[in-house]
Amino acid sequence: MSVLTPAAAPSLPAPLPVLGRDVTVPLASGGEITYAALDYAASAPALQRVWDDVAAYAPYYGSVHRGAGHLSQVSTDLFENARRTVADFLDCADGHEVIFTRSTTDSLNLLAAALPAGCRVFVFETEHHASLLPWRNSDVTYLDAPRTPRQAVETLEHALADRDPHGPALVCVTGASNVTGERWPVRELAAAAHAHGARIVLDAAQLAPHHPVSVRDLDVDWVAFSGHKLYAPFGSGVLAGRADWLRAAEPYLAGGGASRSVTRRTDGGVDVEWHEGAARHEAGSPNVIGAYAIAAACRALTEAGFASLVDREQHLVRTVRDGLAEIPEVTVLSLFGDEAPRVGVLSFVVEGWDGSRFAAALSAGYGIGVRDGLFCAHPLVRTLLGGDPRTPGECGAPENAAGNAPESAPGEKPLNAI
Ligand code: PLP
Repeated sequence: MSVLTPAAAPSLPAPLPVLGRDVTVPLASGGEITYAALDYAASAPALQRVWDDVAAYAPYYGSVHRGAGHLSQVSTDLFENARRTVADFLDCADGHEVIFTRSTTDSLNLLAAALPAGCRVFVFETEHHASLLPWRNSDVTYLDAPRTPRQAVETLEHALADRDPHGPALVCVTGASNVTGERWPVRELAAAAHAHGARIVLDAAQLAPHHPVSVRDLDVDWVAFSGHKLYAPFGSGVLAGRADWLRAAEPYLAGGGASRSVTRRTDGGVDVEWHEGAARHEAGSPNVIGAYAIAAACRALTEAGFASLVDREQHLVRTVRDGLAEIPEVTVLSLFGDEAPRVGVLSFVVEGWDGSRFAAALSAGYGIGVRDGLFCAHPLVRTLLGGDPRTPGECGAPENAAGNAPESAPGEKPLNAI
């Protein structure tokens, strides 16, 4: 943040050290500059403290749940401790399960695979694709974009009131938008879901790195997040919450680790008795380092004190927003206007500029990295740009492999995000 942000107020705590803060890049105009990564919403660099903790663990590296050897025992203990650290970080209730996955996307697909028969799913069209798409093979109702937090709760209540109250139902909602940074009224949505006999899963991919998430206080049934947005490296994620649907479901992956006992039948087939706990959905050798790194990030954030991190971040967001407000060509995107609290993420359009070109110019000219494109939330971005989320193609070319729209189509406004 060093390029856009004036010196932080003296009372604010220093930022947590991350790897990559001191990277210098050559500028197209000549010379070089300390690179400022403002695309943490896509992936945040891991904290130095996390790398240090992982390095300290390296000598104990061994298989988990698979051996009586010393290193295997130590690794197993560290892996299971990581689960408890995450449960504490999320303030889970007794009996809640913490399952290590690959990412938020993986966690939500796991839950989608574990829905009980006949489960109806309710999800706002404004969700990130990770929380919008996993339910497509279920009986899913997509809810129109609300324009205030209150309208979100009313829209959900209305939809839930229309359903058969006896069958199972799930609501999926994002805690904070990766596009606008706006926080959703999770506690109120959870209350509405429960009042109508539904359960709720929170996509905390953007909320968890910026704000404490208490499963008990928010009263959500499950929460999902990714390590690489919480200042841990890539490749690990979490699904935490109620155990019953997960224990009743077929394992997400079939294989070793998930199976307690496998027996050849006399008719030639194979009988399997699956584990009941988290291991049921963690078949195969788990990503022990990923789990350990997530736990290290949870510890680092907790020990740094979330309250002071939130203060610092709010100061930075205000600084950036005030600065952008002074540029007439820039419009910051918002679904809820001034009615919702925000985390440190925002997107803006620059009149007359294609988003990809603008992002490239920021990098080449100023050493600032931002994400450009449609942010894996196509219906939301269409709505924010004043289009119709039901009109395919209005936002221009499909995203490329990096998740970016390479060029604006006619009528598309350019877009950048921090
Ligand atoms: N949900 C939100 C709100 C996100 O911002 C993202 C990633 O950008 C995801 C889910 C998916 O996270 P991952 O790519 O780590 O699965």
